[in-house]
Amino acid sequence: MGPIGQSWLGKDLKYIWHPYTQMKDCRLLPPILIERAKGLKIYDDLGNFYYDTISSWWCNVHGHNHPKIEDAIKKQIGLLEHVLFAGFTHRPAIQLAEKIISITPKNLSKVFFSDNGSTSVETALKISFQYWKNTGKISKTKFVSLDRGYHGDTIGAMAVSGVSLFNKVFKELFFESYKAPSPYCYRCPMGKSKGACDFDCINPLEDILKRKHKKMAGLILEPLVMAAGGMIIYPGEYLIKASKLAKKYNVHLILDEVATGFGRTGRMFACDHVDIEPDFICLSKGLTGGSLPLGMTLTTDDIYNAFYADYEKKRTFYHGHTYTANPISCSAALASLKIFEEEDVLGRLRRLIPLFSRGLERFRTLRAVGDVRYIGMIGAIELVKNKKTKENFGFKDRIGLKIYKRGLKRSLVLRPLGNVMYLFLPLCVKKNELEYILDNTYNIIKSIDTHDIL
Ligand SMILES: *Cc1c(COP(=O)(O)O)cnc(C)c1O
Repeated sequence: MGPIGQSWLGKDLKYIWHPYTQMKDCRLLPPILIERAKGLKIYDDLGNFYYDTISSWWCNVHGHNHPKIEDAIKKQIGLLEHVLFAGFTHRPAIQLAEKIISITPKNLSKVFFSDNGSTSVETALKISFQYWKNTGKISKTKFVSLDRGYHGDTIGAMAVSGVSLFNKVFKELFFESYKAPSPYCYRCPMGKSKGACDFDCINPLEDILKRKHKKMAGLILEPLVMAAGGMIIYPGEYLIKASKLAKKYNVHLILDEVATGFGRTGRMFACDHVDIEPDFICLSKGLTGGSLPLGMTLTTDDIYNAFYADYEKKRTFYHGHTYTANPISCSAALASLKIFEEEDVLGRLRRLIPLFSRGLERFRTLRAVGDVRYIGMIGAIELVKNKKTKENFGFKDRIGLKIYKRGLKRSLVLRPLGNVMYLFLPLCVKKNELEYILDNTYNIIKSIDTHDIL
């Protein structure tokens, strides 16, 4: 490396403002220049590799640079790289829409494309909102969501997310929405202990719906895993109850499967673990196998039909994004779905998941470990200063930073969410890779002697 000012890194720091990053920290902990990637490994310019244990922000599914996705992208680029999606259409979008409809809950029949997770959520919120206008129930304009939920970083998506360290500075911009307590078993909002309850945490949600249903357009939540909120994994019963409440009070049920979709939980979609009929499903992250941006909002015939009318009736959904249904992204998504079938990804996972969960169970006895939770290839370890009182590490402890640095030394990409250390593994992880990741993560957490942190 030459003098920093002229190196790639120097130029990075000179020109680029990275997401979720205090740029001042970059002087001490500069971004790592990644040149290539294959499978679970990402390689830097010095030839070091790191295991991508968090699927590059939860999007990589089959490992990096899967040859079948690469081929599909190359083929599509040679034919059609992009075309506007109003007045025009293309085969990759049609095939993908048909395929997705065939593998999601039966009541979902229509696809609205966009280009990322936040926009797939915004689309659902806007369609839901306008649906009630179009059908004459004009007072139904509000949304209810969970207080630790996360639905994206655009202003509308933030408005229905929980208020956290990341978004509270923008609070005054949010539209009013109702928040129900999250089914967070380790820190039960009702003061009960896990397994010894009747899902009483659903009651506050029912209270809100009972009081406000005349004003309520929809209920939005992440099914089974509240990902950015700390990989909070909750039982399917809660989801079933929430779904019944949505029906009972005539509000739309919007499932945000942006993180949980595409095999993460061991099933294709988190909602496949239960038998429910959502009014919307939002998809993105893993949709293209993690190769290109794409978003999708699925909905029902009933909702679609409320917009289907003579032009003069002004029921049209005036919403869209320039790169809606990009053909290269759609082709990558089709290739990714084909890999699920051809390589029996979910079948293979059924054998791997027990190894993963057994490996995680070992963490429970460690001093800094308060809770261990897992589903599919998602595992989370909630770290605490004090196991008995469940006292958290503070902001100043910078526990996440310490784990991140220790991870890199052991060739692991670990980026805890606050006090929650987690693994969000690409589904292609091999048995020996899984063992390496678990053993080294275990040792890193073991090395966090609470006194050392203080
Ligand atoms: C990441 C995420 C989003 C936002 O997706 P972006 O592509 O980052 O805009 C929305 N919902 C959930 C559940 C997510 O995890």
